[in-house]
Amino acid sequence: MAMPALNEDRLLANGAAPGRECDDCTVCCALLAQAELRKPMRRACDHACRNGCAIYETRPQGCRDFHCLWLRGALPADLSYRPDRLGVLFDGYRPVGAGHLRLVALEAWNDAFDGSAARELIDAIAQERPLELSYRDGSWQTRGPVSGEGQAVLRRGD
Ligand code: SF4
Ligand code: SF4
Repeated sequence: MAMPALNEDRLLANGAAPGRECDDCTVCCALLAQAELRKPMRRACDHACRNGCAIYETRPQGCRDFHCLWLRGALPADLSYRPDRLGVLFDGYRPVGAGHLRLVALEAWNDAFDGSAARELIDAIAQERPLELSYRDGSWQTRGPVSGEGQAVLRRGD
């Protein structure tokens, strides 16, 4: 049976889906750029600690506003798909000035994209929409739907 990859209704949702919580996940704090903290992409935030955010009550607005696709409810609910379990953070947004939706998947640790659950989810999403993969080594690959069998590798670069 095909995996239901994306809940399209939740792709651009503004908040967390009912019953979903970050708990002690801090994957976005390690992977994403944070302009207010002048933190570049793929550098761990100084405020991240074992149990989450050490300045949770006073964390910057950008941190408050961010909800990954799992937290938004766009991905399957099972906790094994939360980024700290799966090793992959999925995000979706409309870049400023662009009409299209950009979907990205960021690898949290080496070879996380090769895990069976991650691979299955990536394959299922890429059958529906272009998906940009950000590898741990800094390289990128774009996967997307093609006519006929298989999926195209559209681009890969540093
Ligand atoms: S990656 Fe998602 S689940 Fe994890 S802390 Fe960030 S928003 Fe929460
Ligand atoms: S301030 Fe807190 S929520 Fe924001 S990136 Fe750092 S650890 Fe994460």
